[in-house]
Amino acid sequence: MADLSVIESQTPLDPASPLAVRGLTVSYGEKPALFSLDASFPAGKMSAIVGPNGAGKSTFLKAALGLIPKVSGEVSVFGREVDRVRDRIAYLPQRASVDWDFPTTARDVVLMGLYGQVGLWRRITGQHKAHALACLDRVGMADFADRQIGQLSGGQQQRVFLARALAQGADLFLLDEPFAGVDAATEAAIIDVLKSLQAEGRSVIAVHHDLSTVAEYFDHVLLVNLRRIAEGPVATTFTADTLADAYGGRLGAVQIEALALQGA
Ligand code: ADP
Ligand code: MG
Repeated sequence: MADLSVIESQTPLDPASPLAVRGLTVSYGEKPALFSLDASFPAGKMSAIVGPNGAGKSTFLKAALGLIPKVSGEVSVFGREVDRVRDRIAYLPQRASVDWDFPTTARDVVLMGLYGQVGLWRRITGQHKAHALACLDRVGMADFADRQIGQLSGGQQQRVFLARALAQGADLFLLDEPFAGVDAATEAAIIDVLKSLQAEGRSVIAVHHDLSTVAEYFDHVLLVNLRRIAEGPVATTFTADTLADAYGGRLGAVQIEALALQGA
């Protein structure tokens, strides 16, 4: 019998893609959360991952990063194994109930993003601190550098985490619902930063829950619901049909038509 795994490995995933996966299957216990997913995100673009709650979006990012095990499948980051390019990736997890009673300033949180470059036990210099402040400034949080992170609003915390991702100097930004629960001003500030990253040639891939802003914010979209529903440029991929496939009865027909028209 033919060894299919050999044939599979003969076609490399697109080495120009900041993140490409093939046949990615992930399971929590018996229940698969992602099934044989293929995806290939374009370099230097803003990409959205869209799908209903529980579709496997967060699972996708975690499995791509190797934070949770996969059952099967290939993952390629800039044509290489993720472990070899970890320093080129910044990851902003979905905001969770992190207890920020821990006495850490906003600046310290950003400095944590530099540990990859500095090494945990090397000294943090004035230069590192200045860089951290510059990153805070880029997200409009320089005035809060010495504030305890636990005393900031959710939106302000999210900006600080984005500043930490910036401090890393990554080429690929993986963001899990960066706009969830933030105010309009924070959303605008975050999108400005992401667009400026894109202008610098970096790649942004974000799980995004607000269908009404997909067409405005993103170039490329992956619609997912356990499997890949559709993937491609927003203008041609984010349509009434693909939305209906991804969301089924969860969105009304009128709502789907309205959203897809914005994308058209
Ligand atoms: P999304 O981010 O699209 O809302 P998730 O990737 O978080 O979806 O979850 C996909 C599915 O996997 C859901 O059914 C969820 O309940 C399940 N799941 C997520 N994390 C775990 C876990 N740690 N253990 C068991 N099931 C999980
Ligand atoms: Mg999620």
